[in-house]
Formats: sequence, C-alpha cells, structure tokens
Amino acid sequence: MLNGVPHADISLRALERNLTSLRARTRPPAQLLVPIKANAYGHGAPEMARHLERLGVTWFGVATAEEALELREAGVSAHILLFSPVYGGLEGLIERDVALSVVDANSAEAVARAAQNAPGARVHLKTDTGMGRLGEPLAATLRTAERLDRAPGVTLEGLWTHFAASDDPDPQVTQLQLERFCEVAAALERAGLSVPLQHTANSAALIAHPETHFDLVRPGIAVYGYHSSPFIAALAPELTPVMTLSAPVTFVKRVSKGTPVSYGGLWHAPKDTTVATVRFGYADGYPRALSGAPHAQVRLQGRLCPVVGRVCMDQLMVEVGDVAVQVGERAVLFGPEGPTAEDLGGGAGTISYELLTRLGRRITRRYVAS
Ligand SMILES: *Cc1c(COP(=O)(O)O)cnc(C)c1O
Repeated sequence: MLNGVPHADISLRALERNLTSLRARTRPPAQLLVPIKANAYGHGAPEMARHLERLGVTWFGVATAEEALELREAGVSAHILLFSPVYGGLEGLIERDVALSVVDANSAEAVARAAQNAPGARVHLKTDTGMGRLGEPLAATLRTAERLDRAPGVTLEGLWTHFAASDDPDPQVTQLQLERFCEVAAALERAGLSVPLQHTANSAALIAHPETHFDLVRPGIAVYGYHSSPFIAALAPELTPVMTLSAPVTFVKRVSKGTPVSYGGLWHAPKDTTVATVRFGYADGYPRALSGAPHAQVRLQGRLCPVVGRVCMDQLMVEVGDVAVQVGERAVLFGPEGPTAEDLGGGAGTISYELLTRLGRRITRRYVAS
C-alpha cells in the first residue's frame, strides 16, 4: 500500500485473554475497574471502553473530567471513577453519574457544594498510605469522611489508596501501606461510616499481592499486556501486548560503505548495504533517545533490522541488509513478537507506559478480532 499511514492494531483476542487471566487472579468478590485514562494508555479510550464493556467490564477509571465526559458522550454507561480531585464543573459530572474522588477537606467542600444543586454525588475518598501524591493519613481522612457523611446529596461509596512500590520484589512498603489502609477502614467503620467499595490494587498489586484486592482491582498496564516491572513479568508471563504498531516504508536505497545517514551524520554505512526509510518519527511517539540504542530495531518481513542514525520528527531509517524490502511494506515498530514497548521503553530510559501514552494523533487505531 503506497502512502500508508502508521497503524496501531489492537488485538481484541489478546485483550480478552489478558482480561481472563487477570480475572482468574482476582479474589472474589473483587471486580475489575480498568483505567482508560490517557486515551486508554494510547489504545483509544472510547473504542476500548466499548470493547471492554462487551467483555463484561463494569468500571472504568479516568484522570480528568474531560476524559470522563468523553466516555459518556460516546455512550459508555458503565461506572466511571475520576481518579483526580476536580474543583470546577462538578455539577455536570454528578449529573452524568461520574464517581468523584475526594482527597481532603477542600475537595470535599467542592463536592458538598455542587451536590446542593446536583444531588446524587458518588464519592470515593482517597487516603494516603505512603504514595505521597493525593490524600491524607488516617485522622484527616476520618474527619473528611464525617464531613461527607453530613453533606446532603452525597454518598460515600468508596475508600481507596494507591501503592507506591507494589511492583518491587520487596513487599515491605506495600505491606505497610496495606496495614495503614486497613486501619483507616477500621476507623471509619468504628465511626459508623460504612463504605461499600474499598480498593487499592493496581496491576502489580493485583498480580503480586492478592490480599490487596478488596472490592475492586484497578489494573491498567496489565490489561494492555505489559508489566510494571521485571519482577511482575516473571509472575505473569502470560500477559501479551494487545497493540502492534506499524508504519510504511516510504523509500529504499542502496548505500555504499561510509555513506552517512540522518542528522549529524552520526551513522555511516559500515559496508555496502540497503537502507529503508520508515514513516514514523518522534512526533508519532518513537523516542529520539532511541537513536543508536541496541533495542532500536524494527521488524520487516519478520526479521529484526536496526534503526540507524538519528530518529527524525516524522521518519526513521533502518538498515535492512539483505532483506528485499519494497516501498509500501510495513515495518513493525513494536508488538507482541518484539521488540515490545517494554524493550523500547527500557532502551530509551523510560517505561512502556510512557511510550504507549505518547503515541501521536497521526496514528490510525484499528480494532481487529484476531
Ligand atoms: C493509572 C492508575 C492505576 C493503574 O496502574 P497500572 O500500573 O497501570 O496498573 C491504578 N490506580 C490509579 C489511581 C491510577 O492512577
């Protein structure tokens, strides 16, 4: 295909397999809440919500009000939890039945005020057990819970926290966070505040710490088929990436030994060889930091070929050697056969999460049954 565009092909079969595996690992009665923030980790949020709903997922998590409203606009009727506190536009969110996060007195006040005009606010109260990002420790959390309990039109539906190191082979930090969480839950119960949904587990905790499952588990990266760390990869090797990212070859040339390729001429052909240009660059989400990195390889006709010279904004060059590559063929940048987004993230000094969430707007996402 000439003039092709980059494609992110999402395998619905791999998605279903990952869900099945994660469900099998989840302790009843916990249900899955799938985070589809940041455009479903780059996989396309409204489309992923539709497919995940069809696969029986009843809860989604998002990071911003806009992400929550986008899902409702798209007709998603499942529960949606907004992970971050918001201080404006709350009435609209309550009316659209988006569950809100409260993290302190200030965010509780904002919800209580909004609920006067828009009753029916569902609140998940976040407590900080050691992540140090959102929420407060026990005493303040209890005071906020009591404030919410007195607020007309507000239902305290959830109590939750987030782990800082659940992907670490050393369980100490997670165990301490879990203890603190249980203390907060017990204090609320003693105060006569019942909270039906308790939840703590991200992907790593779901896989490595079953005692953290409670009523909801919140696996993000694992649903998409990646691992939070090598430790988690060893525990759940069955998870497979659902996305295959590919882009077309737009030009092929023979170069003689010594020919420089790309900005700065950093790479010279070490011998007479063939170089292909691929229509994918850092503006599309291929890290420029991968220029010259050993993991920077693409798959052409099933064979691994090194990316050579600097990665450009819209293009990158690949030494194809003896592979008879034609213009219009597709190069796989990452996918389940490797390299994976995990490999490339490692090579660029980052993680699969960042690679996925930075995939650009010029990529066409396609949802395929196989
Ligand atoms: C993103 C997120 C998750 C999912 O984390 P993974 O490591 O992708 O499983 C869970 N909970 C909260 C609050 C999050 O923001």
